[in-house]
Amino acid sequence: MKILVINCGSSSLKYQLIDSDTEAVLAKGLCERIGIDGSNIAHQRAGGEKVKEMADMPDHTAAVKLVIEKLTDPEVGVIGSLSEIDAVGHRVVHGGESFSGSVLVDDEVIKGIEACSDLAPLHNPANLIGIRSCQEIMPGVPMAVVFDTAFHQTMPEKAYLYGLPYEYYQKYKIRRYGFHGTSHDFVSKRAAEILGKDRKDLRIIVCHLGNGASVSAVAYGKSVDTSMGLTPLEGLIMGTRSGDMDPAIVSFLAQKEGLDAAQVIDICNKKSGVLGLSGGASSDFRDLVEAAQNGNELAKNALEAYAYRVGKYIGAYTAAMNGVDVIAFTAGVGENNAEVRALIGQYIGYLGTNIDPEKNKLRGEEVILSDEGAKVVTMVVPTNEELAIARETVRLLNR
Ligand code: ADP
Repeated sequence: MKILVINCGSSSLKYQLIDSDTEAVLAKGLCERIGIDGSNIAHQRAGGEKVKEMADMPDHTAAVKLVIEKLTDPEVGVIGSLSEIDAVGHRVVHGGESFSGSVLVDDEVIKGIEACSDLAPLHNPANLIGIRSCQEIMPGVPMAVVFDTAFHQTMPEKAYLYGLPYEYYQKYKIRRYGFHGTSHDFVSKRAAEILGKDRKDLRIIVCHLGNGASVSAVAYGKSVDTSMGLTPLEGLIMGTRSGDMDPAIVSFLAQKEGLDAAQVIDICNKKSGVLGLSGGASSDFRDLVEAAQNGNELAKNALEAYAYRVGKYIGAYTAAMNGVDVIAFTAGVGENNAEVRALIGQYIGYLGTNIDPEKNKLRGEEVILSDEGAKVVTMVVPTNEELAIARETVRLLNR
């Protein structure tokens, strides 16, 4: 089957056409600046050059039309016509407590996603626009939605409740939801597969370290805790996000700087993390490592603080699971940044990880970093959220 995977943001649309039989990516691309000046598309067929062009995209429906044009184009396309697309799999950020797994789209599901928009006002409405645009252009083609929050719905109450008056959970559903669930699920499954074991027999800590970053505790196949919360702002220090901090900082800073709460939260989301800590040097970890190597003390401190926080979470989740068998690093930084992995390594050696510094230099591939016989196996497992969405879509169609 040919599955079109769509990840729709407020002004962007990422896509991949995946052959689910071979799991090969046939073509992929990105539409940017949808609805604003300078909209453009970058499209690439497997084995071909990336072609980038300016293209008028006043809305997401126009973007989906253009994606179909590219996919069916005689030169850069990979299919003869729209009818070759068997199904579409959409990434949706927030499924609240309503969705603990992927589902096929119908009117009820759309209403359910709408109802969760309150919890993810920047993401869910954009995801819905993507679904509606595809429905308009591809009527009759089955659509599935895969939620970032779903995998973490197995967390116990003690892990997802905040220490707030219970009535706020009842009234507003304020609780920890967690994100990157598709990745935590995919990576923990794959880690077990690589080790030739059943995930149900393992306690796995997954460190998804990208621009956004989160850690999860996957005990015997189920997520039992994760570092992101009601929103993706909680937990680790990230590229531009603060992660955990004393909530009293919000009113304190608002008063000092003459801001309102929303403006302070905006700073916590966009100007903080390693970008803020490094004095604005960069949110990109490649730049930060280079800056630190060139003597930039703030960049060095930002990386130290980042690694320290990851190390603390690994310790906490080892406690949450009463032990750990596997630690898996994934996403842009986790897969590629050997320097950052080495910094994190300083805080987990006591577990018996025995990381081999030579193996740790490898980038972007599946690799076991620990020496043979290590008590806790540390490994790199590249994530593939698009493939996970395509697999889920096929699973739902075949049910
Ligand atoms: P997201 O999907 O959350 O936007 P990614 O998972 O792509 O983010 O991660 C982006 C981060 O990964 C950047 O900080 C970048 O520096 C880092 N990264 C990506 N590729 C490499 C590489 N080859 N070497 C070192 N770091 C890398």
